[in-house]
This record gives sequence, structure tokens and C-alpha cells, in this order.
Amino acid sequence: MNDYLVKATLLDGKIRVYAASSTNLVEEARRRQDSWATTTAALGRTLTITAMMGAMLKGEDSITVKVEGNGPIGAIVTDGNAKGEVRGYVLHPHVDFDLNEKGKLDVRRAVGTEGYISVVKDLGLRDYFTGQVPIVSGEISEDFTYYYAASEQIPSSVGAGVLVNPDHSVLAAGGFIIQVMPGASEDVVTRLEEQIKSFPAISNLIREGNNPEQIITRLFPDEEIKFHETMPLSFVCKCSKERFEQAIISLGNEEIQEMIDEDHGAETVCHFCNEKYQFTEEELEALKR
Ligand code: ZN
Repeated sequence: MNDYLVKATLLDGKIRVYAASSTNLVEEARRRQDSWATTTAALGRTLTITAMMGAMLKGEDSITVKVEGNGPIGAIVTDGNAKGEVRGYVLHPHVDFDLNEKGKLDVRRAVGTEGYISVVKDLGLRDYFTGQVPIVSGEISEDFTYYYAASEQIPSSVGAGVLVNPDHSVLAAGGFIIQVMPGASEDVVTRLEEQIKSFPAISNLIREGNNPEQIITRLFPDEEIKFHETMPLSFVCKCSKERFEQAIISLGNEEIQEMIDEDHGAETVCHFCNEKYQFTEEELEALKR
């Protein structure tokens, strides 16, 4: 199944739902990061949620998410946009633990239970939205549920899951975000909360071959669902040699001369995609100002 998300509404638009299938883009991130299983789950959940958050934006807007917990993987950094393009990395990708008591990848142990989640939305024309909340769970999904309630005042339920093969490649990944719009009655919210408690794991639904539309139908079998647009999702990194040139220029002439004298060149690596860019002595010389 290709990666994509679908936007839907229920109950006359009072409930907004996003569901995403993200197996391929999470696998692409895993391959580029060489991340181990527990780390892949943490990164994959965050990437999937970022993709859905990006789909709530418009035009050229973009979003950056940082999950900075006290666990061994260090920070998770992802960004996304309104075109379904996401990328992300973790500081320490070689972290793996035994499955937790529920038989699931122990994401909480990798992320940590203390720290912060921050969200920056670049809304164009130098208009920024920033929000920061403490980590409340470390399982990622619960943390974003809390983020929406505490930072954006939108009662939401966020779910994301990743299943990993024994060879560490990604078997299935996906997620959903359910949001209560203003005007929804308490009864509706209570009913949905009950329903959400009995949801099957999203990663299992993806593994069984359910597409995002089928997932929403499975989650809300008794509701009339209105499907809106779909959006393809992919791992895209916008790095380029030119961007790294700017970074080198900003180091200043003295530091550039040191690279020439001591290293006879430079190699830069993009954190997001692991792409390497080489600079020869002559190229470094040309970057002096
Ligand atoms: Zn890159």
C-alpha cells in the first residue's frame, strides 16, 4: 500500500478525523538512520503524527516537532508540510530494548518519561505558532493527545503505531488523529471516548491491509463518515550542498582556514537523511568572505 492519509468528518463535521498509512516513509527513515527497532518505533510514531499535523496546514506552511525526553535515544526531530512531505531523525538511533510487558516495542523506555515536546508552525510572512508541553507518557501518542488539549485547546485522541520485522525493517506503520470541534455535545465526546478505549492497535490494522478509509470505518462502524481529500505521504529531505555552503560561510574565515589547513577539505552530513556533502580545499577557499 502506498503511504497516504485521508481527512474525514463525522457527526455533521463536529468530529474531524485524520488517518494515515506510513509504512514506506517510516522504512525510508529507518534505512537512512540505520535505527534499531525500539528507536524506529519512536521515530516512526513521531513521523506519522507530524505528517498528519502537516496536513492540517495550508500552502507553503511547515511544522517542526521536537520530542526531547530523558531516554537514551535523545531528541527526536521531525518536520512536515502541507504537501505530505516529512523527514526526521533521532540523536542516538542505535537503541533497542526487549518488548515491554504488553509485548510491544518499549518506546517509553527509549524516549524517557521526562522532558518536553515542542511544536513550531511556520505560517509564512514571519508568523509563527509555537507550543510546548511536558512529556506525560513517553509513548508519543499519549503525549500528542496531551499536547492538543494543553497547547491548542482542541480535545483530541492521537494514535500511532509501528511494527518492525525481525531484520529491523518496518512491517507496518500508521496513525490517526481524532479532534472534537467546537459545538460538539458532551454526550458525543463521552461516547467517542468510550469507543476510542476499545480501538484495536493501528499498526495491526495496517498490517492486516486496511487502508486509511477502512481504518476510519473500522474505528467508527456506527457513524456516518464523510471522506474529504486524500494526500500522498513521503519522506523528503530538502538538504542541498548550497544549504551547507551557507552554514560553512557562517562559521567565518578563521574556521574555514582551519578546515583547509588541518583537514584539507570538509565533509558535512545531513542529520535528517544522512546524505554527505564533500567540500574540497578550493571550494572552501571560495566560501571565505
Ligand atoms: Zn538531508
